[in-house]
Amino acid sequence: MPATQLLRALPSIDALLRTREARALAERTGLPRLTALARIVTDELREELQQARDTTTTPGANGKPSRAELLAEAVGRLERAVARVGANDVRRVVNATGVILHTNLGRAPLSEAARRAVAEEAAGYCTLEYDVETGARGRRGGRAEDLLAELTGAEAALVVNNCAAAALLVLSTLARDGETIVSRGELVEIGGDFRVPDVMAESGTRMVEVGTTNRTKLADYERAITPETRLILRVHPSNYRIVGFTAAPALAELCALAHARDLPVYEDAGSGALLDLGAYNLDEPVIRESVRQGADIVTFSGDKLLGATQAGLVVGRRALVERCRRNPLYRALRADKLALAALAATLDAHARGATFTEVPALRMLAATRDDIEKRARAFVRRARARLDADTFGFEIIAGQSAVGGGSAPTTHPPTALIAVTHKHASATALEAGLRQRARPPVIARILDGRVVLDLRTVAAGEEPELLDALSAFSDD
Ligand SMILES: *Cc1c(COP(=O)(O)O)cnc(C)c1O
Repeated sequence: MPATQLLRALPSIDALLRTREARALAERTGLPRLTALARIVTDELREELQQARDTTTTPGANGKPSRAELLAEAVGRLERAVARVGANDVRRVVNATGVILHTNLGRAPLSEAARRAVAEEAAGYCTLEYDVETGARGRRGGRAEDLLAELTGAEAALVVNNCAAAALLVLSTLARDGETIVSRGELVEIGGDFRVPDVMAESGTRMVEVGTTNRTKLADYERAITPETRLILRVHPSNYRIVGFTAAPALAELCALAHARDLPVYEDAGSGALLDLGAYNLDEPVIRESVRQGADIVTFSGDKLLGATQAGLVVGRRALVERCRRNPLYRALRADKLALAALAATLDAHARGATFTEVPALRMLAATRDDIEKRARAFVRRARARLDADTFGFEIIAGQSAVGGGSAPTTHPPTALIAVTHKHASATALEAGLRQRARPPVIARILDGRVVLDLRTVAAGEEPELLDALSAFSDD
């Protein structure tokens, strides 16, 4: 068929939209969006056909495509275009990396109770700022704040959007137009866009650095106090550790110094452990302990070791917390009803002593290598029963999980990994296929040239999906 005839054989936008496949797609995207995509697809095909006029290669099939083949090619491209649009959606994935608080995968997964609270209690009208007893306005975040105070021993609490917002709010409320003293060993950067010096500058306080990277003494803080000092800041070095020849005053010593000079101490604790997690090799500050040692105000995240939703939690002395609440910035930084509902439900589990049974991130942290190995063996048995033994190889090997989320960088919980090999697919092809083709996508790691699956971060209910994802490679 000559090229001009080929161009005439190109399906019109209308013809493309009338196909069975396009009508099904339109139900998902709506007709106006699908029409726009159909126009892009047919324009693209027309251009390629024009370019191919002088050559024998034409898009779609080999040689010269027929009218039907061109239509089929256009339909395929339209389906891929719709899939690409959907690729930016927030989608559920199976996290088989073993990184518990995987920042790129949304940090902490929510508990059943938290999911219910979001979907059922807070999604419609709810008592966000309403007191059903009196019929009058209630305190926003009231239940979450009461639980936070109870769980940390603090006088009062306040909830904002995330821990970065909490730091900004505290610094601008307590230290704007004055000086804030901080150790040079604590000028943290978290995840590229939270840098202590930048947040300080943004809040309007002047940073006064004391000590050195590895050693800061109480006397260094003492010498830096001037009439301009408003606050002493202590930052937990969440994602790094300084080891070797180091020194830093204990929090209690720092508080004693500050209080003798009528200054408050603010600790940015970051990861927010409500319990001592030393049994799991974590050395994260326990919030109740910081409060007990005298910190006047403490901030931490809701979606790190607390295991709830993204939120910035402020606890401390009532007068200081209330000053933060009255700051107009609070209106811009406060948490929304869905986050508050998930947070309260999760805090409630902590308060009932159900931390390690109900809160997924903590349950995953507490899982032993034995627990995980048992699940891994059972999974491999099911996989061998279903998948071709010539195509797939499975081996259970010792490995390490990670806490993630910029917490506990030196903690590597021992785990049992499932190493998967495929007769025809390389490790990189298998890893990419699990990510790109599986529904839901499966995110795995490659270790020593093999794809490895860590069931620590895979919910029991997700194991059948993991098996389905592997079986999709059976025909390769
Ligand atoms: C993680 C962290 C932050 C930032 O918390 P987000 O909730 O991610 O905003 C701030 N400070 C410290 C010490 C942290 O560990």
